[in-house]
This record gives sequence, structure tokens and C-alpha cells, in this order.
Amino acid sequence: MTRSRIPSASPVDLPPFVNEPIFPGPDDPRVRQAFPLAIAQVRKQLGRTYPLYIDGRDITTAATLDSVNPADPDQVVGKVCQAGTREAEMALDAAERALLTWRDVDPSQRALYLVKAAGIARNRIFQYSAWQVLEEGKQWAQAYNDVAEGIDFLEYYAREMIRLGAPQDMGSYADESNFCFYQPKGVAVVIAPWNFPFAIGCGMCAAAIVTGNPVVFKPSSQSSVVGHHLVEVFREVGLPDGVFNYVPGPGSQIGDLLVDSPKVAVIAFTGSMSVGLRIIERAGRTPENQASVKKVICEMGGKNAIILDEEFDEEAAIRDVLYSAFGYQGQKCSACSRLIVVDKVYDRFVPKLVAAARKLRIGSAEDPGNYMGPVIDAKAQRTIMQYIDLAATEGTVLYRSEVPAKGYYVPLTIVEGITPQKRLGQEEVFGPVLSIMRAKDFDEALRWANSTRFALTGAVFSRNEDHLDTAVRQFRVGNLYLNRANVGALVRVQPFGGFKMSGAGTKAGGPDYLLHFMDPRCVTEP
Ligand code: NAP
Repeated sequence: MTRSRIPSASPVDLPPFVNEPIFPGPDDPRVRQAFPLAIAQVRKQLGRTYPLYIDGRDITTAATLDSVNPADPDQVVGKVCQAGTREAEMALDAAERALLTWRDVDPSQRALYLVKAAGIARNRIFQYSAWQVLEEGKQWAQAYNDVAEGIDFLEYYAREMIRLGAPQDMGSYADESNFCFYQPKGVAVVIAPWNFPFAIGCGMCAAAIVTGNPVVFKPSSQSSVVGHHLVEVFREVGLPDGVFNYVPGPGSQIGDLLVDSPKVAVIAFTGSMSVGLRIIERAGRTPENQASVKKVICEMGGKNAIILDEEFDEEAAIRDVLYSAFGYQGQKCSACSRLIVVDKVYDRFVPKLVAAARKLRIGSAEDPGNYMGPVIDAKAQRTIMQYIDLAATEGTVLYRSEVPAKGYYVPLTIVEGITPQKRLGQEEVFGPVLSIMRAKDFDEALRWANSTRFALTGAVFSRNEDHLDTAVRQFRVGNLYLNRANVGALVRVQPFGGFKMSGAGTKAGGPDYLLHFMDPRCVTEP
């Protein structure tokens, strides 16, 4: 028996993967010209209605949700049709039908759809970034890098599928030859957060699609207009009907239905710990009519720490701590939420950090001169304000910035006197609140860094090689950074994701990721 028993299309020869260049800076001539133009063009399209997309058709619903600009909530960015039970079921049925043919399409051919999709997103990178500035309050750089990451996922997973799509010769035993290959699991439900509104949804959908699993995509209610960019991209590349379905709708109403459905084989989720754990629990139930054990690919929150040791580059540390804690208003799963400073340098360093924070400008993300913008919505604003109030009782507030009166702004806040026993030492805030902890030495700093339920990202600033070595072994997080910011993972070179309550150990943008969407099969023949 030979590998040729698996029908294979003509081999596809793609150039090696390279990361999409990240944001070149607001002063780059192309950016100066293209970004304001893109924002102006997007402004002309505000308020449009976005239909669902099921089985290759636009579906409008009577119910719509206004997605608003967090810097100016009176401004409706788009009206998004809302899937209810009926539409969610329609999407699952469409995906189930599409599976019958999509699963047997040659992996290389599936990969080519992704490469085409990447080309479309690349051509629209300014346009898609501008939508994020207005719908999510993302700074120019943050928005641009999000689209670039989405492009990376498309390009990388395409190449990964070509690699994994080739049957593997397992060798022979007792005159029998053997080979293994992968098949898709089945219908995939993809549930995405709003904070990387293109990249994360795109990455999870691309992985499911390229591995042969038709997708029912539920974007976050806060980022459904940007979520619709995936409809544009996947429709334009000509994916067969039913392979990609877009069903925005309240997670509280259609989430359980999608997760519980016996038609579903795999769920890719990125979001909060509470919703992630709920999904894992519900997906574990197996009604009589369910064909397969559901797989949950789950990425959740973080309570990430940066450790400052006795000696380090202070200028770099100030820049990187501020960026990690307050970039995109601290609304990143990877954001620095705890700064653990060893006693010996504490009194010298912390005042410098606070002085630098005082200089950061806060205002609309449309103005690239603003370092920090609004948080995503009124609910997030309320929750973060509760943590800022808590900061005053659990510690000493060193800085609480002024903010614009209109829009969902919260003060950039730095609090000291936090220990692992306090809520601010344990709970994910998901906003611009930096808790500073004074540790007596590096060992205590490391113990404290590991003292939460989460294990997503972390960083250590140190010139002590032994301490850096120790951190590599004992700072137990999914992504550890030495002498640099703890945010901004890049596809392929820095596979991203955590463990403990930060996730189930899957690494988006890494070489193992696609395997979670497939089942291996083995064939033996004398
Ligand atoms: P979230 O509230 O958990 O929502 C995530 C998604 O789940 C949304 O699409 C939401 O829909 C949906 N959902 C809500 N309830 C559901 C239910 N009962 N069943 C199924 N789906 C349901 O999280 P978020 O506020 O969007 O995002 C922030 C969180 O994501 C933070 O905790 C952050 O750390 C985490 N995150 C983690 C990573 C990572 O890679 N580890 C990356 C980014 C973000 P609705 O919007 O309609 O409610």
C-alpha cells in the first residue's frame, strides 16, 4: 500500500511563511495618508445594517443590536441583525450539510482559500483597522496589528494544513505497511471575544475551515461589525455555501444552544474564564443523539505579572510596563495587571514609573496622539470603576488620571500595597489598573507571580542570568518574556495561550494548533 491511496490534488507550492509587518508608526508617510482617509471613508458607512450570513445567503432579522462607538456612544457604528434559536439552528444545519463535501476537499485546496482570504485582508488593512478604531476604541497601532495578526493566522494555518494534510508513512511491520492521516472532527462552533475583533475570530475560524470543519461563527456582541469582515473575506474567496456561517447574537441567549447542540463536534472559544468553564461543562454532556465527543478548544483570561529584579534597564522597563499595562486600556488577556518589584529597587523605580504614566494622554483612539482610549462599553466601565474603588481600600492609589467626560472612559490607575491575598492580587480586571506589589526578593517575587489561578503571560526584567534561567523554569505561564513587554505575541514565532484557568493548553498560531480540530486515522495493508 502506498500514500497514493489518498487522492491528492496537485501539490501546492507556497513561499515560506513570514509575519505580516506590524504597524510602521503614525509618522510613516503611508500611514499618515491612508489611516485618516480610511477613517473618513468608514465614517460615511456608519449606521449600516449587517445581516446574518447562513448557507451562502444574507439573512435579515427583525431584531438588531446597535453597535456603538465607545468614545461617543451616541454614534451607531452599525446595526447588527441578531440570530435567535431559529437562525442558530439554520446555521448548524447548513454547516452539517456542508461537512459532507468540505471534509473531503483536498487539504491543499482548502489552504488556498485561506491564502486568498489573507490577500483580501491585506489589501484592506487600513480600512479594517479604521473600523476597529471606531467600533472598539482601538488605537491605530493596536487596530492595525490586529488585522496583521489575522492575516498571519490565515497564511500560517494554510501552510500548516499543507504540512499536516500529507499522509504520514508509519513504516511497515510483519510485511504490512501503514499510514496515518487526519480528518476533520465535524461541525465547529467558534465563539470569539471583542478585544482582538478580527484576529481572534479569524484565527479560530481559519483553523476550523482549513482542517475541514464547517463553521458557525458567533462574534462578540461588542464587535459584530468587525466580525462581519470575515463574511466579506470568506464570501469573496468563494468558500462553498455553509462552510462559513455568521450568527451574531447574545451569548446569553444562543450560546447554550450552540454549545449543547448534538450536531457540534468541536467548539473553539476565546473569552472569559466564567464563560469558558461553562462551555467546557456543558460540552461534556452527551445526549443520546450526539454522534461524537465534543472537543473544546478554550482560551481564557489572565492576571499577568511583570517582575522587576534588582538590576535592569529602567528606561526599557518603564516603556514596556506602561505599554503592557495600559496599551488598549489594559483590555488584553496578556496585559500586565501586577507589577512585582523587589524591595531593593522599589523606592527608586516606582516614582519614575508613576511620573511617566502621568504624561500619557487619554482620549479618542481616532487621534494617534492619545495613548489610551475608552473601554469597550458601559458594563466594562462600571466593572472597572468598582475595581478602582477597591484599589483605594486594598492599597494606596498612586495615580488616578483624569478622563474625558463623554464616552466609556475609566481613569488610568496605579495602586501600590497589593499582596497575593487581596482581590487585586488575584482577579482579572481587564482594564487600565496596575497593581504594584513589593516583594522582599526575587524568590518571593516569583512565588507571588505564580500565586494566581491563571497562567497566561509574564515578564521578568533582570540582568541576573541565574534569575532569568530560574524564571524560565519556574515562572509557570504559557508565554514568558525576558526583558521586554509581556504583550504582542506573533504567530508562528510566539505561539500564544496559557494553562491553569487561562486555557486548556492550546497554542494559537503554533504548530500543534490545527491538530485540535482533527481526528487521526490509521490504515494498514499487507
Ligand atoms: P466573554 O464575556 O467571555 O465573551 C466571549 C464570547 O462568549 C462572546 O462572543 C460572548 O457573547 C460569548 N458568550 C457569552 N455568554 C455565553 C454563553 N453562555 N455561552 C456561549 N457563549 C457565550 O469575554 P469577552 O468580554 O468578550 O472577552 C474578554 C475576556 O476574554 C477576558 O477574560 C480575556 O482575558 C479573555 N481573552 C482571552 C484570550 C486568550 O487568548 N487567552 C484572548 C482574548 C481575550 P456576547 O458578546 O454576545 O455576550
